[in-house]
Amino acid sequence: MYTNPIKALVENFLFSGHTFTHRENDKKFKFVFLNHVIGFAAFVAFIMGFVRIHQHFTVMGYLDFLFSFIFIFFLIRLRASKEQINFISTALIVSAYLLFTAIYVLATNQANRLSLFFLLLASAYFLKGRRIGFYWLLIIVVTIISIQFSDFVDTHHSSLDIFSITLYLIALYFILDLYEEIKNGQTAEVQYINDHLETLIRQRTNELEIANRELETEKYLLEKVSSTDPLTGLHNRYQIKEIFDFEVTQSKRYNTDLSIIMMDLDYFKLINDTYGHVVGDQFLKEIAAILKNTLREAEVIVRWGGEEFLIIVPKADLGKVHEIAERLRTTIEQHEFHNIGKRTASFGVTSYIENDTFDSMILKADNALYTAKAKGRNQVESV
Ligand code: GH3
Ligand code: MG
Ligand code: MG
Repeated sequence: MYTNPIKALVENFLFSGHTFTHRENDKKFKFVFLNHVIGFAAFVAFIMGFVRIHQHFTVMGYLDFLFSFIFIFFLIRLRASKEQINFISTALIVSAYLLFTAIYVLATNQANRLSLFFLLLASAYFLKGRRIGFYWLLIIVVTIISIQFSDFVDTHHSSLDIFSITLYLIALYFILDLYEEIKNGQTAEVQYINDHLETLIRQRTNELEIANRELETEKYLLEKVSSTDPLTGLHNRYQIKEIFDFEVTQSKRYNTDLSIIMMDLDYFKLINDTYGHVVGDQFLKEIAAILKNTLREAEVIVRWGGEEFLIIVPKADLGKVHEIAERLRTTIEQHEFHNIGKRTASFGVTSYIENDTFDSMILKADNALYTAKAKGRNQVESV
Protein backbone atom coordinates (compact mmCIF):
# COMPACT_ATOMS: atom_id res chain seq x y z
CA MET A 1 0.00 0.00 0.00
CA TYR A 2 1.30 3.46 -0.92
CA THR A 3 1.60 5.92 1.93
CA ASN A 4 2.22 9.57 1.34
CA PRO A 5 5.71 10.25 2.80
CA ILE A 6 4.74 13.74 3.99
CA LYS A 7 1.64 12.39 5.66
CA ALA A 8 3.73 9.65 7.26
CA LEU A 9 6.23 12.23 8.52
CA VAL A 10 3.49 14.40 9.99
CA GLU A 11 1.82 11.41 11.61
CA ASN A 12 5.11 10.30 13.06
CA PHE A 13 5.62 13.77 14.45
CA LEU A 14 2.10 13.98 15.86
CA PHE A 15 1.63 10.44 17.12
CA SER A 16 5.21 9.06 17.23
CA GLY A 17 4.03 6.15 15.12
CA HIS A 18 1.41 5.19 17.70
CA THR A 19 -1.98 4.24 16.41
CA PHE A 20 -5.22 4.89 18.20
CA THR A 21 -8.45 3.00 17.73
CA HIS A 22 -11.76 4.71 17.20
CA ARG A 23 -12.54 4.29 20.88
CA GLU A 24 -9.25 5.90 21.90
CA ASN A 25 -10.09 9.29 20.43
CA ASP A 26 -9.80 10.92 23.84
CA LYS A 27 -6.35 9.40 24.35
CA LYS A 28 -5.30 10.43 20.85
CA PHE A 29 -6.07 14.13 21.39
CA LYS A 30 -4.36 14.11 24.76
CA PHE A 31 -1.32 12.51 23.18
CA VAL A 32 -1.17 15.16 20.44
CA PHE A 33 -1.66 17.88 23.04
CA LEU A 34 1.11 16.59 25.30
CA ASN A 35 3.42 16.00 22.36
CA HIS A 36 3.10 19.65 21.24
CA VAL A 37 2.89 21.36 24.59
CA ILE A 38 5.82 19.54 26.17
CA GLY A 39 7.98 20.08 23.08
CA PHE A 40 7.04 23.74 22.99
CA ALA A 41 7.58 24.17 26.76
CA ALA A 42 11.03 22.54 26.56
CA PHE A 43 11.97 24.85 23.71
CA VAL A 44 10.67 28.05 25.38
CA ALA A 45 12.22 27.15 28.76
CA PHE A 46 15.59 26.55 27.06
CA ILE A 47 15.49 29.94 25.26
CA MET A 48 14.23 31.71 28.39
CA GLY A 49 17.18 30.25 30.31
CA PHE A 50 19.55 32.35 28.19
CA VAL A 51 17.29 35.41 28.36
CA ARG A 52 17.07 35.29 32.17
CA ILE A 53 20.81 34.82 32.60
CA HIS A 54 21.34 37.70 30.23
CA GLN A 55 18.94 39.76 32.36
CA HIS A 56 20.91 38.71 35.49
CA PHE A 57 18.08 36.53 36.81
CA THR A 58 20.64 33.76 37.06
CA VAL A 59 18.83 31.40 39.44
CA MET A 60 15.70 31.60 37.30
CA GLY A 61 17.83 31.03 34.20
CA TYR A 62 19.26 27.79 35.58
CA LEU A 63 15.80 26.73 36.70
CA ASP A 64 14.61 27.30 33.14
CA PHE A 65 17.38 25.04 31.84
CA LEU A 66 16.54 22.42 34.46
CA PHE A 67 12.85 22.40 33.49
CA SER A 68 13.75 22.36 29.82
CA PHE A 69 15.62 19.07 30.40
CA ILE A 70 12.79 17.72 32.55
CA PHE A 71 10.35 18.44 29.71
CA ILE A 72 12.60 16.77 27.18
CA PHE A 73 12.75 13.73 29.46
CA PHE A 74 8.91 13.66 29.62
CA LEU A 75 8.71 13.99 25.86
CA ILE A 76 10.99 10.98 25.35
CA ARG A 77 8.98 8.93 27.84
CA LEU A 78 5.71 9.92 26.16
CA ARG A 79 6.87 9.13 22.66
CA ALA A 80 8.15 5.74 23.84
CA SER A 81 4.75 4.59 25.00
CA LYS A 82 1.27 5.96 24.68
CA GLU A 83 0.34 4.16 27.90
CA GLN A 84 2.28 6.89 29.76
CA ILE A 85 -0.28 9.58 28.87
CA ASN A 86 -1.85 9.74 32.32
CA PHE A 87 1.40 9.77 34.21
CA ILE A 88 3.03 12.31 31.88
CA SER A 89 -0.07 14.53 32.15
CA THR A 90 0.26 14.69 35.92
CA ALA A 91 4.02 15.15 35.68
CA LEU A 92 3.63 18.00 33.18
CA ILE A 93 1.01 19.80 35.28
CA VAL A 94 3.04 19.53 38.47
CA SER A 95 6.30 20.61 36.74
CA ALA A 96 4.58 23.53 35.02
CA TYR A 97 3.08 24.55 38.34
CA LEU A 98 6.52 24.52 39.98
CA LEU A 99 8.12 26.37 37.05
CA PHE A 100 5.39 29.04 36.88
CA THR A 101 5.49 29.53 40.64
CA ALA A 102 9.27 29.95 40.41
CA ILE A 103 8.82 32.46 37.59
CA TYR A 104 6.17 34.28 39.64
CA VAL A 105 8.52 34.54 42.60
CA LEU A 106 11.82 35.12 40.81
CA ALA A 107 11.23 36.73 37.42
CA THR A 108 9.75 39.86 38.91
CA ASN A 109 10.70 41.95 35.86
CA GLN A 110 8.13 40.09 33.75
CA ALA A 111 4.77 41.79 34.29
CA ASN A 112 2.60 39.35 32.37
CA ARG A 113 4.00 36.16 34.01
CA LEU A 114 0.79 35.39 35.93
CA SER A 115 -0.93 34.67 32.62
CA LEU A 116 1.09 31.39 32.58
CA PHE A 117 -1.34 30.12 35.22
CA PHE A 118 -4.18 30.41 32.70
CA LEU A 119 -2.34 27.97 30.48
CA LEU A 120 -1.83 25.70 33.46
CA LEU A 121 -5.49 25.76 34.47
CA ALA A 122 -6.72 25.12 30.93
CA SER A 123 -4.23 22.25 30.48
CA ALA A 124 -5.12 20.69 33.82
CA TYR A 125 -8.82 20.86 32.99
CA PHE A 126 -8.33 19.37 29.54
CA LEU A 127 -5.99 16.59 30.67
CA LYS A 128 -7.54 15.66 34.00
CA GLY A 129 -11.16 16.69 33.78
CA ARG A 130 -13.56 18.83 35.72
CA ARG A 131 -12.93 17.71 39.32
CA ILE A 132 -9.12 17.75 39.24
CA GLY A 133 -9.33 20.93 37.14
CA PHE A 134 -11.23 22.53 39.99
CA TYR A 135 -8.57 21.46 42.53
CA TRP A 136 -5.94 23.09 40.32
CA LEU A 137 -7.97 26.31 40.24
CA LEU A 138 -7.89 26.28 44.05
CA ILE A 139 -4.18 25.45 44.20
CA ILE A 140 -3.32 28.24 41.72
CA VAL A 141 -5.48 30.86 43.45
CA VAL A 142 -4.16 29.94 46.90
CA THR A 143 -0.58 29.98 45.58
CA ILE A 144 -0.93 33.38 43.91
CA ILE A 145 -2.63 34.98 46.89
CA SER A 146 -0.36 33.50 49.55
CA ILE A 147 2.80 34.51 47.67
CA GLN A 148 1.41 38.00 47.13
CA PHE A 149 0.75 38.41 50.83
CA SER A 150 3.85 36.63 52.15
CA ASP A 151 6.55 38.80 53.70
CA PHE A 152 9.42 37.15 51.86
CA VAL A 153 8.54 38.02 48.28
CA ASP A 154 7.89 41.28 46.52
CA THR A 155 5.90 40.26 43.46
CA HIS A 156 5.71 43.80 42.03
CA HIS A 157 1.97 43.19 41.72
CA SER A 158 -0.76 45.20 43.34
CA SER A 159 -3.55 43.56 45.32
CA LEU A 160 -5.92 44.67 42.58
CA ASP A 161 -3.80 42.75 40.04
CA ILE A 162 -4.07 39.62 42.16
CA PHE A 163 -7.79 40.13 42.77
CA SER A 164 -8.57 40.59 39.08
CA ILE A 165 -6.33 37.67 38.00
CA THR A 166 -8.17 35.47 40.52
CA LEU A 167 -11.52 36.51 39.04
CA TYR A 168 -10.25 35.85 35.51
CA LEU A 169 -9.02 32.41 36.53
CA ILE A 170 -12.43 31.62 38.01
CA ALA A 171 -14.07 32.91 34.82
CA LEU A 172 -11.82 30.71 32.72
CA TYR A 173 -12.76 27.73 34.86
CA PHE A 174 -16.47 28.46 34.32
CA ILE A 175 -16.01 28.77 30.57
CA LEU A 176 -14.20 25.44 30.46
CA ASP A 177 -16.83 23.89 32.67
CA LEU A 178 -19.70 25.22 30.59
CA TYR A 179 -18.06 23.87 27.47
CA GLU A 180 -17.67 20.48 29.17
CA GLU A 181 -21.34 20.60 30.15
CA ILE A 182 -22.42 21.26 26.56
CA LYS A 183 -20.16 18.50 25.29
CA ASN A 184 -21.58 16.02 27.83
CA GLY A 185 -25.10 17.03 26.84
CA GLN A 186 -24.30 16.36 23.20
CA THR A 187 -22.70 13.02 24.02
CA ALA A 188 -25.74 12.06 26.05
CA GLU A 189 -28.00 13.06 23.18
CA VAL A 190 -26.01 11.02 20.68
CA GLN A 191 -26.04 8.11 23.12
CA TYR A 192 -29.80 8.45 23.52
CA ILE A 193 -30.33 8.49 19.75
CA ASN A 194 -28.04 5.48 19.41
CA ASP A 195 -29.90 3.55 22.08
CA HIS A 196 -33.22 4.49 20.58
CA LEU A 197 -32.09 3.37 17.13
CA GLU A 198 -30.75 0.13 18.53
CA THR A 199 -34.05 -0.59 20.25
CA LEU A 200 -35.89 0.25 17.06
CA ILE A 201 -33.69 -2.06 15.01
CA ARG A 202 -34.08 -4.85 17.53
CA GLN A 203 -37.86 -4.37 17.49
CA ARG A 204 -37.97 -4.44 13.70
CA THR A 205 -35.75 -7.51 13.57
CA ASN A 206 -38.08 -9.27 15.99
CA GLU A 207 -41.11 -8.31 13.95
CA LEU A 208 -39.43 -9.55 10.78
CA GLU A 209 -38.53 -12.82 12.47
CA ILE A 210 -42.11 -13.32 13.61
CA ALA A 211 -43.40 -12.49 10.12
CA ASN A 212 -40.88 -14.92 8.63
CA ARG A 213 -41.93 -17.68 10.98
CA GLU A 214 -45.59 -17.04 10.11
CA LEU A 215 -44.71 -17.21 6.42
CA GLU A 216 -42.84 -20.48 6.96
CA THR A 217 -45.83 -21.94 8.81
CA GLU A 218 -48.17 -20.76 6.09
CA LYS A 219 -45.92 -22.21 3.41
CA TYR A 220 -45.79 -25.51 5.29
CA LEU A 221 -49.57 -25.57 5.69
CA LEU A 222 -50.09 -24.66 2.02
CA GLU A 223 -47.76 -27.40 0.88
CA LYS A 224 -49.42 -29.85 3.20
CA VAL A 225 -52.87 -28.83 1.99
CA SER A 226 -51.88 -28.97 -1.67
CA SER A 227 -50.23 -32.35 -1.29
CA THR A 228 -52.87 -33.87 0.98
CA ASP A 229 -56.13 -35.40 -0.12
CA PRO A 230 -58.85 -33.71 1.97
CA LEU A 231 -61.13 -36.74 2.19
CA THR A 232 -58.63 -39.36 3.36
CA GLY A 233 -55.70 -37.29 4.64
CA LEU A 234 -53.40 -39.34 2.38
CA HIS A 235 -50.95 -37.91 -0.16
CA ASN A 236 -52.47 -36.88 -3.45
CA ARG A 237 -50.74 -37.00 -6.79
CA TYR A 238 -49.11 -33.62 -6.23
CA GLN A 239 -45.37 -33.96 -5.60
CA ILE A 240 -45.61 -37.74 -5.66
CA LYS A 241 -43.17 -37.95 -8.56
CA GLU A 242 -40.55 -36.14 -6.45
CA ILE A 243 -41.11 -38.61 -3.63
CA PHE A 244 -40.77 -41.50 -6.05
CA ASP A 245 -37.56 -40.03 -7.56
CA PHE A 246 -36.15 -39.58 -4.07
CA GLU A 247 -36.89 -43.24 -3.27
CA VAL A 248 -35.23 -44.34 -6.54
CA THR A 249 -32.08 -42.38 -5.59
CA GLN A 250 -32.07 -43.92 -2.12
CA SER A 251 -32.51 -47.44 -3.41
CA LYS A 252 -29.67 -46.93 -5.90
CA ARG A 253 -27.37 -45.42 -3.25
CA TYR A 254 -27.98 -48.20 -0.73
CA ASN A 255 -28.54 -50.88 -3.36
CA THR A 256 -31.97 -51.80 -2.01
CA ASP A 257 -35.17 -52.82 -3.82
CA LEU A 258 -38.10 -50.55 -4.52
CA SER A 259 -41.64 -51.64 -5.33
CA ILE A 260 -45.10 -50.20 -5.75
CA ILE A 261 -48.65 -51.40 -5.22
CA MET A 262 -51.62 -50.16 -7.24
CA MET A 263 -54.89 -50.93 -5.47
CA ASP A 264 -58.45 -50.47 -6.80
CA LEU A 265 -61.60 -51.12 -4.83
CA ASP A 266 -63.90 -53.70 -6.34
CA TYR A 267 -67.32 -52.64 -7.58
CA PHE A 268 -67.08 -49.31 -5.92
CA LYS A 269 -69.50 -47.70 -8.32
CA LEU A 270 -72.15 -50.10 -7.02
CA ILE A 271 -71.75 -48.70 -3.50
CA ASN A 272 -72.27 -45.18 -4.75
CA ASP A 273 -75.24 -46.27 -6.77
CA THR A 274 -76.80 -48.31 -3.96
CA TYR A 275 -76.02 -46.30 -0.81
CA GLY A 276 -75.15 -42.88 -2.18
CA HIS A 277 -71.95 -40.83 -2.30
CA VAL A 278 -71.80 -40.15 1.44
CA VAL A 279 -71.52 -43.84 2.21
CA GLY A 280 -69.03 -44.17 -0.67
CA ASP A 281 -66.92 -41.44 0.90
CA GLN A 282 -67.14 -43.09 4.31
CA PHE A 283 -65.93 -46.33 2.78
CA LEU A 284 -62.95 -44.51 1.23
CA LYS A 285 -62.06 -43.09 4.65
CA GLU A 286 -62.22 -46.51 6.27
CA ILE A 287 -60.01 -47.90 3.53
CA ALA A 288 -57.49 -45.11 4.14
CA ALA A 289 -57.48 -45.93 7.87
CA ILE A 290 -56.84 -49.60 7.14
CA LEU A 291 -53.95 -48.71 4.82
CA LYS A 292 -52.40 -46.42 7.42
CA ASN A 293 -52.74 -49.02 10.17
CA THR A 294 -51.44 -51.91 8.14
CA LEU A 295 -48.50 -50.22 6.43
CA ARG A 296 -45.26 -48.93 7.93
CA GLU A 297 -44.21 -45.29 8.22
CA ALA A 298 -41.69 -45.67 5.37
CA GLU A 299 -44.37 -46.72 2.91
CA VAL A 300 -45.92 -43.81 1.06
CA ILE A 301 -49.70 -44.08 0.57
CA VAL A 302 -51.22 -42.00 -2.21
CA ARG A 303 -54.83 -41.53 -3.21
CA TRP A 304 -54.12 -41.98 -6.88
CA GLY A 305 -57.61 -41.52 -8.28
CA GLY A 306 -61.21 -41.81 -7.06
CA GLU A 307 -60.99 -45.26 -5.49
CA GLU A 308 -57.48 -46.14 -6.58
CA PHE A 309 -54.52 -46.08 -4.25
CA LEU A 310 -50.82 -46.15 -4.98
CA ILE A 311 -48.38 -47.36 -2.35
CA ILE A 312 -44.63 -46.88 -2.72
CA VAL A 313 -42.82 -49.61 -0.81
CA PRO A 314 -39.08 -49.06 -0.30
CA LYS A 315 -36.71 -51.96 0.52
CA ALA A 316 -39.05 -54.61 -0.84
CA ASP A 317 -38.52 -56.97 -3.78
CA LEU A 318 -41.37 -58.45 -5.79
CA GLY A 319 -41.91 -61.35 -3.37
CA LYS A 320 -42.00 -59.02 -0.40
CA VAL A 321 -44.34 -56.48 -1.99
CA HIS A 322 -46.64 -59.31 -3.06
CA GLU A 323 -46.76 -60.42 0.58
CA ILE A 324 -47.59 -56.91 1.76
CA ALA A 325 -50.36 -56.54 -0.83
CA GLU A 326 -51.71 -59.91 0.15
CA ARG A 327 -51.81 -58.84 3.79
CA LEU A 328 -53.74 -55.72 2.76
CA ARG A 329 -56.11 -57.75 0.67
CA THR A 330 -56.99 -60.13 3.52
CA THR A 331 -57.32 -57.28 6.03
CA ILE A 332 -59.82 -55.52 3.76
CA GLU A 333 -61.59 -58.75 2.95
CA GLN A 334 -62.06 -59.53 6.64
CA HIS A 335 -63.09 -56.02 7.66
CA GLU A 336 -66.72 -55.19 8.45
CA PHE A 337 -67.38 -51.78 6.84
CA HIS A 338 -70.06 -49.43 8.12
CA ASN A 339 -73.41 -49.87 6.36
CA ILE A 340 -71.91 -51.92 3.56
CA GLY A 341 -70.39 -54.93 5.35
CA LYS A 342 -67.77 -57.00 3.57
CA ARG A 343 -65.88 -55.51 0.62
CA THR A 344 -62.81 -56.36 -1.42
CA ALA A 345 -60.03 -54.76 -3.44
CA SER A 346 -57.70 -55.84 -6.26
CA PHE A 347 -53.94 -55.26 -6.43
CA GLY A 348 -51.25 -54.96 -9.05
CA VAL A 349 -47.65 -54.98 -7.80
CA THR A 350 -44.31 -54.43 -9.49
CA SER A 351 -40.64 -53.82 -8.61
CA TYR A 352 -38.17 -51.32 -9.93
CA ILE A 353 -35.79 -52.63 -12.57
CA GLU A 354 -33.01 -50.85 -14.43
CA ASN A 355 -34.23 -47.91 -16.55
CA ASP A 356 -37.72 -47.94 -15.08
CA THR A 357 -39.35 -44.54 -14.75
CA PHE A 358 -42.24 -43.52 -12.56
CA ASP A 359 -44.57 -43.75 -15.57
CA SER A 360 -43.27 -47.15 -16.65
CA MET A 361 -43.72 -48.46 -13.09
CA ILE A 362 -47.30 -47.16 -12.99
CA LEU A 363 -48.02 -48.73 -16.34
CA LYS A 364 -46.70 -52.13 -15.18
CA ALA A 365 -48.70 -51.94 -11.94
CA ASP A 366 -51.84 -50.88 -13.83
CA ASN A 367 -51.49 -53.82 -16.18
CA ALA A 368 -51.11 -56.20 -13.27
CA LEU A 369 -54.15 -54.65 -11.63
CA TYR A 370 -56.11 -55.07 -14.85
CA THR A 371 -55.16 -58.75 -14.88
CA ALA A 372 -56.25 -59.09 -11.22
CA LYS A 373 -59.61 -57.55 -12.12
CA ALA A 374 -59.93 -59.76 -15.15
CA LYS A 375 -59.16 -62.88 -13.09
CA GLY A 376 -62.17 -62.15 -10.89
CA ARG A 377 -61.00 -59.37 -8.48
CA ASN A 378 -59.99 -59.64 -4.76
CA GLN A 379 -56.52 -60.82 -5.65
CA VAL A 380 -52.92 -59.70 -6.02
CA GLU A 381 -51.20 -59.86 -9.37
CA SER A 382 -47.51 -59.14 -9.86
CA VAL A 383 -45.55 -58.26 -12.95
P1 GH3 B 1 -64.11 -52.20 -10.61
O1 GH3 B 1 -64.29 -53.36 -9.73
O2 GH3 B 1 -63.93 -52.60 -12.02
O3 GH3 B 1 -63.05 -51.29 -10.14
O4 GH3 B 1 -65.48 -51.46 -10.56
P2 GH3 B 1 -65.70 -50.01 -10.00
O5 GH3 B 1 -67.12 -49.74 -9.94
O6 GH3 B 1 -64.96 -49.84 -8.72
O7 GH3 B 1 -64.95 -49.15 -11.08
P3 GH3 B 1 -65.23 -47.76 -11.77
O8 GH3 B 1 -63.89 -47.12 -12.11
O9 GH3 B 1 -66.18 -47.99 -12.86
O10 GH3 B 1 -65.90 -46.88 -10.67
C1 GH3 B 1 -65.23 -45.98 -9.86
C2 GH3 B 1 -66.23 -45.06 -9.26
O11 GH3 B 1 -65.70 -44.36 -8.12
C3 GH3 B 1 -66.71 -43.99 -10.20
C4 GH3 B 1 -66.92 -42.77 -9.34
O12 GH3 B 1 -68.25 -42.40 -9.26
C5 GH3 B 1 -66.50 -43.23 -7.94
N1 GH3 B 1 -65.77 -42.22 -7.28
C6 GH3 B 1 -64.60 -41.64 -7.68
N2 GH3 B 1 -64.18 -40.77 -6.73
C7 GH3 B 1 -65.08 -40.79 -5.71
C8 GH3 B 1 -65.22 -40.12 -4.46
O13 GH3 B 1 -64.39 -39.27 -4.08
N3 GH3 B 1 -66.28 -40.37 -3.67
C9 GH3 B 1 -67.22 -41.28 -4.06
N4 GH3 B 1 -68.21 -41.52 -3.24
N5 GH3 B 1 -67.13 -41.92 -5.24
C10 GH3 B 1 -66.09 -41.71 -6.05
MG1 MG C 1 -61.21 -47.49 -10.64
MG1 MG D 1 -62.91 -49.89 -8.77
